[in-house]
Amino acid sequence: MDEPNRSSPIEGSPSRLQSIAKGLCPLCREGQIFSGLFQMNPTCPTCEVVFEREPGYFSGAMYISYAMAVPIVAVVSLLISQVFPAWSYERVVAIAFFALLPLTPVLFRYSRILWIHFDRAIG
Ligand SMILES: [Zn+2]
Repeated sequence: MDEPNRSSPIEGSPSRLQSIAKGLCPLCREGQIFSGLFQMNPTCPTCEVVFEREPGYFSGAMYISYAMAVPIVAVVSLLISQVFPAWSYERVVAIAFFALLPLTPVLFRYSRILWIHFDRAIG
């Protein structure tokens, strides 16, 4: 039930990087993984592969989300501390975290998209 009708992308389909950027299914590279800003399709609309392979499947995406967020907070903190050198470290990092909030949908989506592609690439 978990496996799709087609196990590899058809000829002429987007590359892995293109399909990640466009949020496409890792197997057929045609169907959209997300149907809304935070809403995922349970299965690929094209090949019907189940995206959430097991309960708790997306806990792995949290590591990817963390790996994407930490460098952003670090760079923003560095920039803020350059502009406001008198500010405390805690204040700078707190503001950097607030600056990260508008990126939450992007981090949420791409952490899951990357996780699905990573999982399907190795498994
Ligand atoms: Zn698919």
